[in-house]
Amino acid sequence: MADTTHGQPVKSLAALTDQCVMCGLCLPHCPTYGLDPHEAESPRGRIALARRLASGQLPVTAATLAHLDHCLGCLACEAVCPSHVEYEEIIIQTRALLRPSRPPRGRLSRWLADPAILVRLARLGSAVRAGYWLPTVARWLPGSSRLRRLATEIPGTPAHVSVPPRPAPVTADRGRVILFPGCVASVFDRDTLDAARILLGALGHEVAMPTVPVCCGALALHAGEVEAAARSAQATHSALRACDAETALVCSSGCLGSLRDHGMPGSTLRIDDVLAFLAADVRWPQLRFKTLTQRVAVHLPCTQMHVGSGKQPLLQLLASIPGLQLLVLPNQPGCCGAAGNYFIEQADHADRLRAEKLDQFGRQSADLLLTTNIGCRIFLGNGLRQRGARMAVLHPLALLARQLETQA
Ligand code: SF4
Ligand code: SF4
Repeated sequence: MADTTHGQPVKSLAALTDQCVMCGLCLPHCPTYGLDPHEAESPRGRIALARRLASGQLPVTAATLAHLDHCLGCLACEAVCPSHVEYEEIIIQTRALLRPSRPPRGRLSRWLADPAILVRLARLGSAVRAGYWLPTVARWLPGSSRLRRLATEIPGTPAHVSVPPRPAPVTADRGRVILFPGCVASVFDRDTLDAARILLGALGHEVAMPTVPVCCGALALHAGEVEAAARSAQATHSALRACDAETALVCSSGCLGSLRDHGMPGSTLRIDDVLAFLAADVRWPQLRFKTLTQRVAVHLPCTQMHVGSGKQPLLQLLASIPGLQLLVLPNQPGCCGAAGNYFIEQADHADRLRAEKLDQFGRQSADLLLTTNIGCRIFLGNGLRQRGARMAVLHPLALLARQLETQA
């Protein structure tokens, strides 16, 4: 079976799927089952499909591929499964198994699974959107075309928040940590990376960043491109190791799981959620933040909840800002529809999930929306713009850095 953890022995697909006792407890937590209550759109149904595909009992049909492709990889099912079914490993192995059965991928599909190309497209999108002509051109493309979707949804760089340009000088007496920039995040989430540097610096940490582009490999892994993901992970590991520190911190929850759980088996490098790291810092309570009397909605990405540090460290950090009224958006549906490049590949499902999330947000009458994942930030921000709402969608760290008191 596919060696999906890059050199580590893994269970076979048959063994993984046999762990499912078909109890159905995961069904109410699955966003795609919520959209379409059909067994094949549920975790249990997909596991049954995977088991039969692995044993050769089920021919590969367009319908089977569609049910498997509709999976967001949100892992809400894995989080609630009493049998501890390793759903993520099942879907990765299944997609790898199906890769040869698929028609040769078109150029656009290959682009969408290649972070380096996505970044170039993102930069192009940012540049041309400054002239506002890309969405106009996109309207002339066929309605279902992924190129049109890409032109519409690969946005200009999200509105960057201003963070203190000159944080108070602090002696870096805590040693060095690495800040993992990611590929897409290094284009779209620069304000978050700046904010992380400021907050870590204020606590006395020296911050190092790789000098070459790095990628967690999530897009390739979730497309079943395990070899490409492994190559990307090896290059990333070398780049992080060259920074000469023991801990790498990740701001975007979408990158965290791939990097920590799949990217670098056997590595002694500690990969941590920057939010958990900051919340556990003994000096954090010494930081002072300016008052902000606003209603702030918090979207909790699936990755934050199921592979990141959950909501507790995040809410703990935000509670440092006096006057803030935090409104956590409901868990259901758990996913906003962004899910890597899902929002391009599965536009209809993604739009329906986003609409529900934006409706929830609308009911909160909030002044600001926060999310810890760059994919959610882009997708929800585009959705708000398309609804005519001129509202910033920020990473919580950007808000914290903006409110940080700087001593003269
Ligand atoms: S994945 Fe887990 S919760 Fe879902 S049906 Fe199987 S055993 Fe039950
Ligand atoms: S990963 Fe998410 S979308 Fe996929 S089956 Fe599990 S709950 Fe459903």
